[in-house]
Amino acid sequence: MPPRYDAIVPGTFDPVTNGHLDIIERAAQLFPTVHVAVAASSNKSALFTPEERVAMLHEVCAQMGTVSVGSFAGLLVDYAGECGAHVIVRGLRAVSDFEYELQMAHTNRRLRPDLETVFVMTTTEYSFLSSSIVKQIARLGGPVEGLVPDSVRQRLRDKVGLP
Ligand code: ADP
Repeated sequence: MPPRYDAIVPGTFDPVTNGHLDIIERAAQLFPTVHVAVAASSNKSALFTPEERVAMLHEVCAQMGTVSVGSFAGLLVDYAGECGAHVIVRGLRAVSDFEYELQMAHTNRRLRPDLETVFVMTTTEYSFLSSSIVKQIARLGGPVEGLVPDSVRQRLRDKVGLP
């Protein structure tokens, strides 16, 4: 019987989209436990605070028994160690994601060689979807149904005045 490893799914999640959820759900099928980790100190300027991003993830992951949510401000490899995770799961949408992901995977491997990075390919219907696109649509007053969970749509409405 091969060893079974716990996984961490890191990201900015500003806000969580249906594309993220798809990756989290599929990670939960592959690994015994999944820790979703909100990067509090991301280079990206965020619309939602880390606390709001964690709260949104809590709401949408509440039914997934083996999935927990937290946030981290330091190195991902250190936080993964604290969580007891041995696998980092990242989603890949297009070739444009690949270069950055390759760099991060090599960097994390150098920092902690026993932490493996595993990539899950996007589901076709979410291959165009990103938090940035969702925020752009919302800011311009467009519909985000089907792109984010309903609870996130409510919070977007409160934040940017979505109709
Ligand atoms: P980061 O700033 O770390 O890239 P994101 O919140 O943008 O954080 O993304 C977190 C993870 O989710 C990344 O691995 C990203 O590739 C993946 N992801 C985001 N949107 C999708 C999607 N539509 N389909 C598949 N994976 C996605």
